[in-house]
Amino acid sequence: MRKFFLLLLIASLLIFPTLAFAQNEASIKELGVQLWPEYDRADMLVMYSLALADNTSLPTSLNIRIPADAKLNAVAKLSEGSMLTVPYDPPVRDGDWMVLTLVMDELTTYRVEYYQAMEIDGAARNFSFLWESDYDTESIYVEFQQPPSATDLRTTPVLPNQNPVAEGMTYHTFAQGKLPAGEAFELDISYNKNNDDLTVSSMPVEVSGVPASDTNSFSLSDSLPTILVGVGVLLIVGGLLYFFLAGRGQTAPPRKRTRSKGGGGEAKYCHECGSRASGNDKFCRSCGGKLRG
Ligand SMILES: [Zn+2]
Repeated sequence: MRKFFLLLLIASLLIFPTLAFAQNEASIKELGVQLWPEYDRADMLVMYSLALADNTSLPTSLNIRIPADAKLNAVAKLSEGSMLTVPYDPPVRDGDWMVLTLVMDELTTYRVEYYQAMEIDGAARNFSFLWESDYDTESIYVEFQQPPSATDLRTTPVLPNQNPVAEGMTYHTFAQGKLPAGEAFELDISYNKNNDDLTVSSMPVEVSGVPASDTNSFSLSDSLPTILVGVGVLLIVGGLLYFFLAGRGQTAPPRKRTRSKGGGGEAKYCHECGSRASGNDKFCRSCGGKLRG
């Protein structure tokens, strides 16, 4: 009996030789899709969080498809708790898609962000999201951020979970299991909104605690000599520092990803799964992890 199964196995390997190599192909353990329409532009902000299967051998590269009319905004990875920009080559056009080759040297979450135009007709907004890849995807998690003044939201498939309202914002989420390579995941979204307001402008602004200067107790004429001496010392020290640092000519460390936006402060990311957080969120809406300041 055992022999029979062995023969069957060998026969099937001969018939389907690709099976024998299937394990070497990269596969995506988790795909997070955040859809934030009219967030800081009158477009759809689409954000992917990608985590590879744990047994992936590194480095590896992943071909990510984004719509041909998308405006790629950022490619980053979560590394030791912070978001680092990842250098990439310009995406290559392939029919309705652009293919972005993501070189991955760490088993961590990679992020791809792009903007895509929505169909706007008066108050009506329509958007079709489409994901297609050459890799098996073990699970997909979708988060839709509803603009505060949006009404009549309709989606196909239905987004069944409505997260507790956070600072007046409503998030709709959807989770699905395995999506085989080559199969598409599609989400159609429509809603009404009779203004051009951007979500980011409705979020509370985090003001850094700079105290208002007490001008009354400070007399400029009394302090002027001190100030001039101070400025002179600063210039000399600064010049010396510049001279020594510039002379060393070392390569700059990877730039921390800080992107300031109008009114919304710096973009904040979950240190566990890399999902984008908004405003004053204390916990990640994707994985529930505590967000660091
Ligand atoms: Zn998270």
